[in-house]
Parts: sequence; C-alpha cells; structure tokens
Amino acid sequence: MMTQTMAPKDAKTVKTKYIYTFGDGNAEGNAQMKNLLGGKGANLCEMNRLGVPVPPGFVITTEACTRYTEKGREDLMEAIREEMEQGIAHLEQIMGTRFGDRENPLLISVRSGARVSMPGMMDTVLNLGLNDDAVEGLSQRSGESRFAWDAYRRFVQMYGDVVMGLKPESKEDEDPFEVLIDEMKKKRGVANDNQLTTSDLKKLVLQFKELILQRTGEEFPTDPWEQLQGAVSAVFESWNNERAQVYRSLNGIPEHWGTAVNVQAMVYGNLNDNSATGVAFTRDAGTGEDLFNGEFLVNAQGEDVVAGIRTPQQITLEGSRRWAELAKITEEVRREKYPSLEEIMPEVYRELAAIETRLENHYADMQDLEFTIQDGKLWILQTRNGKRTGAAMVKIAVDMLNQGMIDEKTAVLRVDPHRLDELLHPVFDPTAIKSANVIAKGLPASPGAATGQVVFFADDAESWAENNKPTILVRMETSPEDLRGMSVAKGILTARGGMTSHAAVVARGMGKCCVSGAGAIHVDYRARTMTVDGQTFREGDWISLNGSTGEVYEGRIITQEPALSGDFGKLMKLADKYTRLEVRTNADTPEDAATALRFGARGIGLCRTEHMFFEGERIIPMREMILAADETGRRTALDKLLVFQREDFRGLFETMHDLPVTIRLLDPPLHEFIPHDEAGQREIADDMGVSLEVIKDKIEELKEANPMMGHRGCRLGITYPEITEMQVRAIIEAALDVKMKGIRVIPEIMVPLVSKVKEFEAQKNLIEATAETIFAERNERVEYQIGTMVETPRAAMLADYISPNAHFFSFGTNDLTQMTFGYSRDDASKFLPIYLKQGLLDHDPFEEIDQYGVGGLVQIAVERGRKGNPNLSLGLCGEHGGNPASVDFCHRVGLDYVSCSPYRVPIARLAAAQASLKNEK
Ligand code: ADP
Ligand code: MG
Ligand code: MG
Repeated sequence: MMTQTMAPKDAKTVKTKYIYTFGDGNAEGNAQMKNLLGGKGANLCEMNRLGVPVPPGFVITTEACTRYTEKGREDLMEAIREEMEQGIAHLEQIMGTRFGDRENPLLISVRSGARVSMPGMMDTVLNLGLNDDAVEGLSQRSGESRFAWDAYRRFVQMYGDVVMGLKPESKEDEDPFEVLIDEMKKKRGVANDNQLTTSDLKKLVLQFKELILQRTGEEFPTDPWEQLQGAVSAVFESWNNERAQVYRSLNGIPEHWGTAVNVQAMVYGNLNDNSATGVAFTRDAGTGEDLFNGEFLVNAQGEDVVAGIRTPQQITLEGSRRWAELAKITEEVRREKYPSLEEIMPEVYRELAAIETRLENHYADMQDLEFTIQDGKLWILQTRNGKRTGAAMVKIAVDMLNQGMIDEKTAVLRVDPHRLDELLHPVFDPTAIKSANVIAKGLPASPGAATGQVVFFADDAESWAENNKPTILVRMETSPEDLRGMSVAKGILTARGGMTSHAAVVARGMGKCCVSGAGAIHVDYRARTMTVDGQTFREGDWISLNGSTGEVYEGRIITQEPALSGDFGKLMKLADKYTRLEVRTNADTPEDAATALRFGARGIGLCRTEHMFFEGERIIPMREMILAADETGRRTALDKLLVFQREDFRGLFETMHDLPVTIRLLDPPLHEFIPHDEAGQREIADDMGVSLEVIKDKIEELKEANPMMGHRGCRLGITYPEITEMQVRAIIEAALDVKMKGIRVIPEIMVPLVSKVKEFEAQKNLIEATAETIFAERNERVEYQIGTMVETPRAAMLADYISPNAHFFSFGTNDLTQMTFGYSRDDASKFLPIYLKQGLLDHDPFEEIDQYGVGGLVQIAVERGRKGNPNLSLGLCGEHGGNPASVDFCHRVGLDYVSCSPYRVPIARLAAAQASLKNEK
C-alpha cells in the first residue's frame, strides 16, 4: 500500500519521496505506514482519511532521518528542499495563511514521531514561523495581542531549549527561561503564567532573546525557513540524544529505525478562555475500566497539561466528581474552580466523545488522544494505542472480547506477557497497613504497592539499587533524564503533576508503582529532604506508596502477593485453548510447587535436590558427607540425609498429585556447601568431633580452579555412586509411599551434565539397579522414568546416541549458554554490560536464549534425539523458560514443555499461546 511517486518514464533515476502530506480529509499516508511515517504521522494521516478534524500538515519520513544520520544536515536539506516548499505551500493553501507573513502568518509545529511512541524522548517546537513582524500579524488577525505574544514567548523558549541547546544540563539547574518567567511572576505578584499581561510577555520575549545571544553568541533566527530547517535538524539529532538512547535500550527499540518529523499547522488552545488543550483516554489506563477520561486546561497550549503547571480539570463530569473525592475537594469548589469539559463546553464535549468512540472502534484498541480547542472548535492532534498497566491490559482485552470488538486470538495477542508480572505483584499486608500512618496523598498514578528508602536523584536510585537497597524516588516532577533511576526504583513519588504527567505515564509504561502530584510534599533537593506537615524525611528514610489509592505512608510496610482475579483467569484459560507447549515449574519445595500450581503449572520440570540440603539441620549431615574421609563415612551421613530427602519428595509428590515431577540428581560442586569462614568451619569440626585442621585440609582438597567445569554434575554420581543410590532410594521410596495413598506419581529422574554417552548409561544402570532392589524389598513397583539434562555441547551433538536409552531430555540452557559462549556466568558482569552497550550482543544471552548458537545446538539435539527415540519427551528448564522470546523459540523447535520459576508460569503460559498463534499465521 506504500504510495511511491513514479518518475516519468524517461527519467534516469527514481527520486525517493521524503515527504507525505495530509489535510482536508485527504492524506498521502495511512495507519499502515508506521515504519516510514512514524506512529504519530501515520495516525495523523489515518485520522484525516476518517474525516476527524486534524490540522493539515506533512510528514518527513524516517528514511530522511537515516539519510540525515549518514550524510549530514546539508545534504538532507538539499534533498528535501523542493518537497518541503511544496509541503508548506499545501498548508498555506488550506489555512489561507502565509509562512512568515507579517499580515497573516502561517505558524507550524515541528514534532518528532518514531514507529512506536517514545513519550518525552524527543522534542516538539510549537508556533514556529513567528518573528517580530509575524507576531504583529497574528495579534491583529486574532484580535488577541496577549495570545500572540504568549505564542511568541513559547516559541522562543522552546526553540531556545530544543534547537539552540539552552535546555539545562544538570539536574539541579532549572530551565533558564522558566527562571525568567518566575522572576516576572514574582515581580507582578501573580501565581500562574496565564496571569501575565501582554507587556510582561513582550518583555519576556526580549529577555529570552538576549539570554540566547548571551549563551550561544547567536541571534535568534528571524527567517521562518531557517527556523524550520533548524527544528527539523533538531528532531533528527534528538534521535541520537542520550535519553532517547536510554529509552530505546530499555524498550528494545533498534537504533536504525530513525524518527519521522511531523510538520503541522498550529491551532491555538491559548487563544482565549473559549480555548483549551487536553489529553484523553478512551478507557482507564490504570484499571482498564471502560470509562472515557482525561484532563484539560483552559487557555493553554501543548504540554501545559502534562507539565503540571496548573491543576488540570477533568473531561467528564463523572471523572471530575471522582477526582474531587480523591482530592478531598467539595462539590461546590469543584463546580466553581475545576468544572469538567462536559459542563463548560457541552457541545465540544459531545463531539470529542463521539470521536473517541469512533477512533477506538476504528483501531479496535484503547486510544490515547491529544486535542486542542480553538475558540470553541475541536481539533485532534494525535491518537495512538494508549499505554496501560498490566491489569488494564488484561481487563481491556477481556472486555473488548466480551464487547465483540476483537476475537479470542486477538485478545490473547493483545497482552504483553512481560506485563502480567504486575498483576502478580505485591500489595500491602492488610494488617500492617491498618496501623500505618498516611503522611500525604497524591494521585493514584500507577497501581501496586511499594516500600523503600527515600532518594531524591535518579542516579542515587541507580547506585542504591546496585547495592540491593530498595528505593522510592522522590522528585518535584520527573523528566526523561530520570528514566534509568525510575526503572530501578521500587516506586516513584512526585510533588507536582497530574495523571498524565511524565512520572505517571512513564511509571505506567514500566508497570511501576507511582504516586504523582502529592502537593503537600515539599522537596528540598540541596538539603536532600522532603517535608510534609512539618515532618522531615531525609535521604535513606523509609516510606511506602500505594499507587492504586495515591496514599503515601511513613515507614516500611510489609507487602504481600495479590489474589488472582477473574479477568486474569479468563485470559489464562483462553491462552491454554491456543497453546501447544506446556508450562511446568522449577520448584524444590511443596510451597513453591503449590504457588506454581495456582499459576497453572502442569508439573515440575526441575527440582534441584541440592536446595533441599541447605535448609535447617540438613546442612550438617550434608557437610559430614562431603568431609567424610571414606565411603563408610559418606554412607553414614547419607543415611541421615535419606530421611530428609524422602520426606521432601513425599511432600512434592503429594502436592503435585498426578502431574509429572522431574528430579535432578545432585549437581553443584561440593565446595558450595562448605562454610568459607573460620567460625563456620570450627562449628563443623565440633559437630563432627574432628580438629579444625582436618576440616581445613579437606576444604583445601576440595578447592577447584574452575568449579563450574570441575567435579560436579553426574561426575559426582560416578565418583561417589552412593550419592546417586541414596537419592534414587529417597525418590522411589517416596513414590511408593504416596502410591499407597492412591496418588499416581511418575517420578522423572534426571542425570545432570552428561557429555559422554557412557556417563549417562552408567548412571542409568545404577538407578535401575537401585530401584529394583527397593521394589524387591517392598514387593511393590512404581513406574518411573530416566532422562538427562542436555547442557553440554557434546551431549547435544551426540543426542541420537543418548536418546535411545532416555525417556526424556531437558535442556539446561543456563549451563549450555555458559559452555557454548564460554562465558562464566559468575564473571560475565565484568564484560556483558559493555558488550550490550556496544551492541556486540543484542540482549543478555542468559536472559533470552541465543537462538543461533545455543538455540542451534538445541535444534540439533531435538532432531537427533528424536531420530534416536521417536517417543523422547523434550523440555527446557533454564531461566529462559520464563522469557517470552525464548518460549517462542521453544515452541518453534518443537519442545513439549518449558519449565520456569513459579511467578513466571503465567508469563510463560501466555507466551506459549502467543507463540502458537503467531506461528500459525
Ligand atoms: P509528544 O510526542 O511528546 O506528545 P507532540 O509532538 O505530540 O509531543 O507535541 C507536544 C504537544 O504539542 C502536544 O500536547 C500537542 O498536542 C501539541 N501540539 C503539537 N502540534 C500542535 C499543533 N499543530 N497545534 C497545537 N498544538 C500542537
Ligand atoms: Mg514531548
Ligand atoms: Mg503527543
């Protein structure tokens, strides 16, 4: 559907089309062209086609951005000059104005817009085209000189910030233009900038220009074309600024996409009191409730609403009432000072409500709109699929399915599996919260509960997080510079800003608890304190946030896991309907197993028996076993361990009922069980009745240069067969015991870290011999299976030799990744971050499976394994089992199941369903 202008037949070269126009119900682009026109541009075109009132404009393509990055400003400006002139002519013709005219000037906005929305990442310049002449024209034409000068001062300020580089560098600095505005307000004794007079604004424009000259040594450009080129270049430059890069890396957006530039005729929400600007959502972005909502400001422009300059008003009457209740504002005061749009401009409201319904139906998804009202006329400036919390994502998908707007498959595909995490996130412990003390109340900007220590700067949140300290990032308001800190803080608290403030939008995007606009809080950045009602909190003090109610609490409040609600259950059921790949869990205790069952796990894919040896008194016989001088000593200790292990397995089998339970034989290097401090060593010596020296010698003996490749895995069971014997005995006896209770259990015994076929066979023979002995002793049998973990490259290559003797393979992709890359997991932090930053790796291979290398080995092992044994069951039990992209890979290579930690089970289930749906298409 891409419209490519055809060059005349005799032309030698086909010129690339860099500019697409829209306006007056027509557009050269449409919603499908996001890659070329960016999300904003494509949707502006689409809205034009739908007949939604949108100011005319044109889009400079992302290909132009790429060319700009490659060949530089001059080359690009020359390449698009002609098209840009035509584009401006197109606007002049529709608007009946002229660019740079002193009588009737065309003003434009220059906006960035990548394929996916990157809120706050790139900068917008409004009212471009103004100069000392044009401002007079604007003033006369509109009959509102205050408005004209307000527009002019905004333009000089934005252009100064964005294009000429006056935006503050350090987090302690304020925007120098805002400083001048504040001084002016103080001088005039007014609180809001809409109270400044025309002559105040004229003075500000002069001061702004002087400031620019002083700081940059350059005059503010008066030629509109020069202004336009400057702004377009600044948008392209901003694609590569640091905050855009941070956002991209946090959200996995590739560098090479580039951004488009949207040039659009201005409409004026700051024209007079019959004008306004606002933001609206077709459904509640926090809860998902099907309720049109949003905020606006009278006589305002652009980002005034989200900047938290004045308190915004609600669009709907219902929303306004709810807001007033939360803010503890009486109905009288609300009606008088903060009436809804529905009340003060009922006709515009009705038109807006009709458009929101139409857009939501058209896109069949929740929309996030920007609008401006100019002297009673409504204009839509943007629509996009709205960001929402994980809970809202689930609710909206299920609601839209029920409303017949989308089908089941779309509903399943609508929810980002990563975001389910939030639904499973903590809430406050109900008893602890009763005695908690509320110190302030803000807006419920992003739900969930968080508790942590106060920090005031994003960098501090980062460094504290590195030391595993939970933080609450407290700011007057946040800005894109704070992104990294916001992403690692437990919660975010701001003193200013509404539900659509930067903090609120970004936090919801991250699924992070956030309370915004808690006006009672006074933040002093220099002193690093926050004061509420005379009470002072210092950096490091504990506070807690409830992002669902907006409450801020003093102190640390215990949090607990949430209940799984109705829509969530429905979605999970739907997911199962379309899934082929099963999801099991990694669990070592009945408690974990029970949690995983609640989350829908279909068995245990990995029980790490070593975890059972750490708990309580078990560690003592374990250490005795390790430190024993000979086999007899080891057997004595193992007999004690048998009692514990058998009990543990009974518990697991009973919890899992008739679902499969895969148990891995002892795997880690033994030194992991030994205390490395002298006090601990002395304790063992006393316990065992030997001298400290004996213990020290033995520990010295156990030392390995490279334990991850040393005496571990099945190498333990081969050198100390009595360990395997004990574990098999515990498993089989427990299975027989629960069988007596009428529970059908099929234990799957898994041999770890095999690389030689004979290793596996030796362990298999030992397992079978042990089991037969027990069956004879008990005169009773139980079904069981033997398989191996495929986690060395050699095992993968020889899969067809191993599989004829195995019931199952389970890919241990943690070790397999470690051995395939040759990256030690324990040491990778020294270089992985640098590799990621330099783009040598696209992602951490321990988080998301490396599909070509590690995945290639998995694929080989799947093919060869099945060749050797067509009934072989295949699973994966590394960390990757809970990672959606890796789950998709597992589906594609035809595994039977993945296994992941209990809390990732729902994520894996949804990812598995999406994998089958995506790959069926
Ligand atoms: P962002 O991507 O940060 O939302 P936008 O490009 O959408 O940035 O613009 C920022 C603000 O400027 C928005 O509030 C938008 O509504 C307003 N704006 C953009 N273009 C125009 C225009 N032509 N007329 C009036 N307001 C505009
Ligand atoms: Mg912006
Ligand atoms: Mg916008």
